[in-house]
Amino acid sequence: MVAGNKTSKRLCRKASLTGLQEVADIYSWIDKQLGLHSELTGRCEACGRCCDFDAYDHRLYVSTPELAYLAAGLDVEKLRPMTTSRCPYNIDGKCSVYEYRFAGCRIFCCKADADFQSRLTEEALEKLKSICLKYEIPYNYADLASALKGRAVI
Ligand code: SF4
Ligand code: SF4
Repeated sequence: MVAGNKTSKRLCRKASLTGLQEVADIYSWIDKQLGLHSELTGRCEACGRCCDFDAYDHRLYVSTPELAYLAAGLDVEKLRPMTTSRCPYNIDGKCSVYEYRFAGCRIFCCKADADFQSRLTEEALEKLKSICLKYEIPYNYADLASALKGRAVI
């Protein structure tokens, strides 16, 4: 199940700035955890290869609150659809939405400890899910290609 048009609209409307701030707080929490466990995070060289999901044999999963946060942060009515296997926000090998990038983008590093990444991901998802529970929004979690496919309007 993917984050749909109505769902995202409801999230934006119901969560308002408060809910979106909660997503920002979760991202800050993730960034703090990464800083506290730098021996486990690996060192990303920002080469951008893992943003091409097929080429890197990698999948990025995103949740409803994260998509709403990205759209609100970019102040756009439409999220970009995926037209290739590369994330549409990777421009010339660089992340063009770095401030608003998803939890998976923050946590994943090709050189990181896999168990640490897995634990941090699970904790982050519980927090993201709690936003949906709080605002009575269906929680959806899908790979980026599916989440954006035909669902580009927020
Ligand atoms: S949001 Fe940024 S870091 Fe995440 S996959 Fe897209 S380009 Fe890469
Ligand atoms: S995590 Fe690895 S593959 Fe992805 S951008 Fe960083 S160095 Fe490149």
